[in-house]
Amino acid sequence: MSQSVENIKPSYPLFRDQDYKDMLTNKKDNFEEKHPQELIDETFMWTTTVEYQELNFQREALTVNPAKACQPLGAVLCSLGFENTMPYVHGSQGCVAYFRTYFNRHFKEPISCVSDSMTEDAAVFGGQKNMFDGLENCKATYKPDMIAVSTTCMAEVIGDDLNAFIGNSRKEGHIPDDYPVPFAHTPSFVGSHTTGWDNMFEGIARYFTLNYMEDKEVGSNGKINIVPGFETYLGNFRVIKRMLNEMDVGFTMLSDPEEVLDTPADGKFRMYAGGTTMDEMKDAPNAHDTLFLQPWQSTKSLKFAKNTWQHSAPGEKDFKIPMGLDWTDAFLMKVSEISGQEIPESLAKERGRLVDMMTDSHAWLHGKRYALWGDPDFVMGMTKFLLELGCEPIHILANNANKRWKKAMEEILAENPYGANSEVHIGKDLWHMRSLVFTNKPDYMIGNSYGKFIQRDTLYKGEEFEVPLIRIGFPIFDRHHLHRATTLGYEGAMQILTTLVNTELEHLDNKTRGMQTTDYNYDLVR
Ligand code: SF4
Repeated sequence: MSQSVENIKPSYPLFRDQDYKDMLTNKKDNFEEKHPQELIDETFMWTTTVEYQELNFQREALTVNPAKACQPLGAVLCSLGFENTMPYVHGSQGCVAYFRTYFNRHFKEPISCVSDSMTEDAAVFGGQKNMFDGLENCKATYKPDMIAVSTTCMAEVIGDDLNAFIGNSRKEGHIPDDYPVPFAHTPSFVGSHTTGWDNMFEGIARYFTLNYMEDKEVGSNGKINIVPGFETYLGNFRVIKRMLNEMDVGFTMLSDPEEVLDTPADGKFRMYAGGTTMDEMKDAPNAHDTLFLQPWQSTKSLKFAKNTWQHSAPGEKDFKIPMGLDWTDAFLMKVSEISGQEIPESLAKERGRLVDMMTDSHAWLHGKRYALWGDPDFVMGMTKFLLELGCEPIHILANNANKRWKKAMEEILAENPYGANSEVHIGKDLWHMRSLVFTNKPDYMIGNSYGKFIQRDTLYKGEEFEVPLIRIGFPIFDRHHLHRATTLGYEGAMQILTTLVNTELEHLDNKTRGMQTTDYNYDLVR
């Protein structure tokens, strides 16, 4: 083997060495029962046709590369946003290993989360015993101030009752009577990671406020509650805080994992860092109002804030994710309306800079065609900003969105000439997107890392068919530090715009660098 202590190679060049090539060829020829290459290519080409797309869109009982994850993953992220809180998943260990690695790979951080390791016996007799031991061990070993419990498929299929199990854990003395254990049922066979985030948030809000509303008074703490929803861009927590601080507005970020997902390497491991405190959660009903930054993904929590806290909590129709120019304006005006604080000159100047950037880059982005996918609020905000930039979002896909969202999207697109050629898809996956990208080619795709397989396939068909992927979304495993970026506010719009326009300019340079053939197009004044 070519790998040796004296000459250690990383995987990419290593596997191109002759001995590895021979090994892989041998494996293919002798063990994989591989079809002839001509048949593979013929089938591949067929999968790029309109005929195949029509069949693909008739698919009902199979999802391929779904562009969403399961409920407890979202519940874990929500729980990580609370101070000294251990996310606890009632169910199988493998599921929790998946949640941890998913976040590890995205955030490049250790992620604390436990499971009570239900196995075959628990699947038959119920998982109460696991929960007794699990809660007791978790509290003793990791010493959290709060354990936030969600569930996996297995626990939901057999109908385990979290309320009863946690109550019995107290009665049996496994955890003290007053020890905080909020919970949410998060069945993975319905909804997605965003539903799980919403359910867990509602569970925590319910636990700390539902039965303690007598002494609460709307507006008495003088603050605004900000609920981020399933948010994986650390810069977004920071930019929202910065803008509110610049406005001198008191606020509480309800679920704030910014610190725990970004601990420094200073020789000290922090299992817990930062986060919303229990007192802040208890005080939440006393705020003037609650703004859900991703209202399409916060249905249950929004309803709770309206009904229990008596907040106006503007929903899908009246409030949008603060992405791009218009909807950041709307966010700041809403904050100003609720708080009575003026929008300061510093933010007006920042807005002006964004408009300046949009004007500078307009010539390069105008009419560029994009395919995009992701969670409903992100996709809606991204679409809106693309339209503001004069781009054409032609294929728009959110697997985990509902029909009302689709209708709202179509209304947004109908109002703008750049939306004339757009199609919106819900309940569809990235294998559907692959068909769309082949039959009606966009210039770029915007989405998570899984889009790289579509890019590879388009390149396999031929260079002229290649559709480059711009990585914005979740998860992003194959690039570093993009999760630190910002997509919200004027600052986020500036970052997205910078990425879009420089991807286009890079692309142009790559296409025009042939010496004395295509280099006539090159200049330094773009
Ligand atoms: S879908 Fe169900 S089985 Fe799969 S990881 Fe999620 S909870 Fe576990």
